[in-house]
Amino acid sequence: MTDDPRAKRIAELIAPLRVKPGSQVDLPHDFDPAYTLKGLKKKDSVGQMETGIAMLADYQARLAAQDTYGVLVCLQALDAAGKDGTIKHVMSGVNPQGVQVHSFKVPSSEELNHDYLWRYAQRLPARGDIAIFNRSHYEEVLVVRVHPENLDRQKLPDECKGKGVWERRYREINDWERYLTDNGFKVVKLFLNLSREEQRARFLKRIDLPEKNWKFSAADARERERWSDYQEAFSQMLSATSTPWAPWYVIPADRKWFARICAGAVLIDTLIEIDPRYPQVSEETRRQLLEVKQELEAQAPKGAPADPFEAGHAGQPARPASARRGSAGRGSAGR
Ligand code: AMP
Ligand code: MG
Repeated sequence: MTDDPRAKRIAELIAPLRVKPGSQVDLPHDFDPAYTLKGLKKKDSVGQMETGIAMLADYQARLAAQDTYGVLVCLQALDAAGKDGTIKHVMSGVNPQGVQVHSFKVPSSEELNHDYLWRYAQRLPARGDIAIFNRSHYEEVLVVRVHPENLDRQKLPDECKGKGVWERRYREINDWERYLTDNGFKVVKLFLNLSREEQRARFLKRIDLPEKNWKFSAADARERERWSDYQEAFSQMLSATSTPWAPWYVIPADRKWFARICAGAVLIDTLIEIDPRYPQVSEETRRQLLEVKQELEAQAPKGAPADPFEAGHAGQPARPASARRGSAGRGSAGR
């Protein structure tokens, strides 16, 4: 665990957003899309975001180096809730080598020839990586539920559809996520909660600005007509699939700046919990490294410092290897 004071603030920020496992959610009643933290202003958010981005970059580098855990981030939301912008801003500081983003659209005919989790399983993160699902396996209990013709296209045998199919899918999804968690893959689930009025405003902006037109389609307006069906499907999903091993976070999405801070905070909180460390080499390897160091130093051309790196850090006494590896060394070598 960490004694970083930022960790405590992050935990406090995200606690009210977590869906308590086993609770019955009535989304429009229980979560306000316009919620922000009391006292936090938009103008303060820039500094907070910068801190968050720097923390994410640091933790992600350690996650990749440790190569033991993986993180899956699932982003769900209605159109215009800010999924793309959240990914763009929250992940802006991380090394692209360790992050993959996958967007899930209407399934292809190949995908429909498999079980419904197949296409998501193909895109899971490797150890050390963060995978972001822009829409996720939760579409299988959202759009597929609101538009049952999607279920018909999935070519299920008769006995596998019909009554109880959604309850079964919730259980299967929970089991799948538990399996992933049990094997070192954390599942972070973010639902961006947008109000109907804010969606209307954002749709109009997409129509009014020519450079945003590509982001809008008449189909989006038709989906909007099913607003209450989606609210119901979200409520049931949140109630049934917020588990102790993979809880849902409802991110208030009407204020983009706050949504991004919260989304970043949930991800950082998960990484803090993992607490990834840079691998340490054994005493034997360390001894070999020091032998090679001596050989390299002996190769210094005339006039060149034996070790340019150490010379570049002149004035900051080289810390003995023991201090660099965490045991008691000289002075206070901690960060
Ligand atoms: P967008 O994210 O705006 O590019 O749109 C992707 C579209 O794919 C949305 O309308 C989703 O509802 C739809 N979609 C995603 N997953 C599924 C699925 N499993 N079955 C049917 N439609 C889906
Ligand atoms: Mg769309």
